[in-house]
Amino acid sequence: MSTELLFRADAYLKTETAQVVAVHERGIEIDRTIFYPAGGGQAGDSGHLLRANGERIVIADTRKGDAIDQVLHVPAPGMPQPAPGETLTLEIDWQRRYAMMRLHTALHVMSCVVVAPVTGGNIAPDKARLDFDIDMSLLNAEKIERETNAMIARGVETETVWISDEELDVRPELVKTMSVQPPRGAGRVRLLSIPGIDLQPCGGTHVKNTAEIGGIRVLRIRNEGKRNKRVEIALAK
Ligand SMILES: [Zn+2]
Repeated sequence: MSTELLFRADAYLKTETAQVVAVHERGIEIDRTIFYPAGGGQAGDSGHLLRANGERIVIADTRKGDAIDQVLHVPAPGMPQPAPGETLTLEIDWQRRYAMMRLHTALHVMSCVVVAPVTGGNIAPDKARLDFDIDMSLLNAEKIERETNAMIARGVETETVWISDEELDVRPELVKTMSVQPPRGAGRVRLLSIPGIDLQPCGGTHVKNTAEIGGIRVLRIRNEGKRNKRVEIALAK
């Protein structure tokens, strides 16, 4: 069963209502969701589902199911089980998600400061990282921080753009992430555009304007292997 992914059109939805579709050992499925399932290096959302009787079902994690756009809301241990057909009020842990939206968008900007193939990445609420296939001597924390923050400070509006699989096939340069190819088969691919800065396939959640990031700090740069030079960042404040 696929879920309508409301965060794709509006990453700022903090609460919504939805109907329970199925409940099983892997999690709760609902017809539409604002919970982002872990993917593309970004952690899954936490939050809660509120029942009409006032009971709260704490959601510890959100994951992708096996089907396209299938989302599994994973309850914390010991939570009450809703019934199929029941209407729930969804609420995500907004502070946590918003921090990840800011960090995620910051990684897009940083990937245009460090110009090298991306071999990995991760976004958690408190820090984020990208791995690059680059020589360590070319990575300078102070320079990366200064140039990334200068781009962020331009206050550029971000945009979601959809292109067909065929259009992406003729523009392979758009795919910077060697380890993760964008999902094919749905006929179209979602891109994040930061005009004048970055354009690449991405299904994650982003801020509307780079100014919302505020700024970043480079926490450390580490050699994680021949093709993995890791740059780890946090929000400046
Ligand atoms: Zn993204």
